[in-house]
Amino acid sequence: MSNQSNNFIAGDWVQGTSSIANINPSDTNDIIGQFAQASNAHLDDALNAAQIAQKEWATTGLEQRQAVLMKIGEEMMSRSSELGELLSREEGKPLAEGKGEVYRAGQFFTYFAAEVLRQTGDTADSVRPGIEIDIRREPMGTVAIISPWNFPTATASWKIAPALAFGNAVIWKPANLTPASAVALTEIISRQDIPKGLFNLVMGSGPSIGQTLAESPKVHAISFTGSYNVGLQIANAAAKNLTKFQLELGSKNPLVVMDDADIEVAVSVASAGAFGSTGQKCTASSRLVVHEAIHDEFVERMHQSTSALKVGHALEEGTQIGPAVSQQQLDSNLNYMSLAKEEGCEIVCGGHQLELEKPGFYMQPSLLIGGNNSMRVNREELFAPMACVIKVADYDEALTVANDTDFGLVSGIVTKSLSRANHFRRNAESGCVMVNLPTAGTDYHVPFGGRKNSSFGPREQGSYAKELYTQVKTSYISGGNP
Ligand code: NAD
Repeated sequence: MSNQSNNFIAGDWVQGTSSIANINPSDTNDIIGQFAQASNAHLDDALNAAQIAQKEWATTGLEQRQAVLMKIGEEMMSRSSELGELLSREEGKPLAEGKGEVYRAGQFFTYFAAEVLRQTGDTADSVRPGIEIDIRREPMGTVAIISPWNFPTATASWKIAPALAFGNAVIWKPANLTPASAVALTEIISRQDIPKGLFNLVMGSGPSIGQTLAESPKVHAISFTGSYNVGLQIANAAAKNLTKFQLELGSKNPLVVMDDADIEVAVSVASAGAFGSTGQKCTASSRLVVHEAIHDEFVERMHQSTSALKVGHALEEGTQIGPAVSQQQLDSNLNYMSLAKEEGCEIVCGGHQLELEKPGFYMQPSLLIGGNNSMRVNREELFAPMACVIKVADYDEALTVANDTDFGLVSGIVTKSLSRANHFRRNAESGCVMVNLPTAGTDYHVPFGGRKNSSFGPREQGSYAKELYTQVKTSYISGGNP
């Protein structure tokens, strides 16, 4: 148990009942460490401690709360190289992306540090003379945060920061594929001047500890980011206790490339959106909906660009595409490649497993053509470095295809036409729209979320985050005079 990283429960680092090995997907001989798995009893200890600590935190002065969040954010930003390297080592995204993610995660804390001081309410006169009304937000209580592996630090931070800013206690269940980043962030939070038990880390598998957490009546709100199927289980668990919840799930994001697109912009936007982080982004554009007039030129340029992408060890200089996160994810990617062929797509390039110097879950990014929007590869979230071109006759067909999906996180268009861009912005059935920008890549001070099967509940990020982490109280005050 000596090389084991532990859970953080009720203000102490606590050993688990078992542990798992954390394997570097760029080099499977590199074991990053052993990580404790929490039991139900550990979870209960965390929930009980959180309940007490939250009461103290909710009455802690605003400047004190603000200072805590500021310190967490500033430390993350100043240590983004070191922590980004750890993130890339365990998740597999190229080093620059890992460092960028940790820096961004720090910005969530500094942003919400400022939000601490912007908690204002409303007042009104009653319709009954002599009575005044005060409308204010109060914390929810204990918030369960269940996060995925693909943005292990940023996703968790955009939940933890507002949860703490608005006066809640937190129980965080990170993904088991990326526990080192979770322990690193927890270690920073553990050194802050906060009540014992306010912040708890419980590592373990989703179906065991995650499910028990979601089902607990001691939880007052749940923020979940992950897959659609698990999201449904969270929704069911929350419904049993009428626990407030929010889901941020998968997607099948379209990027429309119009005939008037700047070809350089189109290729760079499509490539970044489809292949960034090995395609393992909820915002990835795996559907490239391309006008027939520009189709052949676009495919040729994308072919050149995709074939030139350097796949390699996440920590190596020059790597543009890292490995898949796990053997299971790589198998799923290769299965989708076989399915694409069976469904009638033509493979322009890539899509095969790569054997590199170090043993890892490597795959060459793939460009596919000849597909249509009914194919499974164009309807299901792949989470793979695969982009499928769907040829369309005109803008109307492009918009129809873009919206013909069960999901609705991000839609993008590349065009020089302002009126087309505006029409698309207004008619895309998604929570976010990108014009001449990759579908992936959002800011931290504005709301983020989707429609249809991509999201449920209040938006995350920016000032909109308070909708999940607070509850409204309306008080009527009479002077007591007759
Ligand atoms: P996942 O659904 O497998 O797991 C997400 C988290 O839920 C993990 O911590 C996991 O352990 C836990 N979990 C699993 N089963 C559970 C259960 N029964 N009860 C409670 N918790 C459970 O997702 P993943 O593979 O970690 O992440 C990839 C998915 O996340 C993709 O679908 C991606 O699109 C989505 N995602 C969405 C956003 C967004 O903001 N919309 C952002 C990042 C990732």
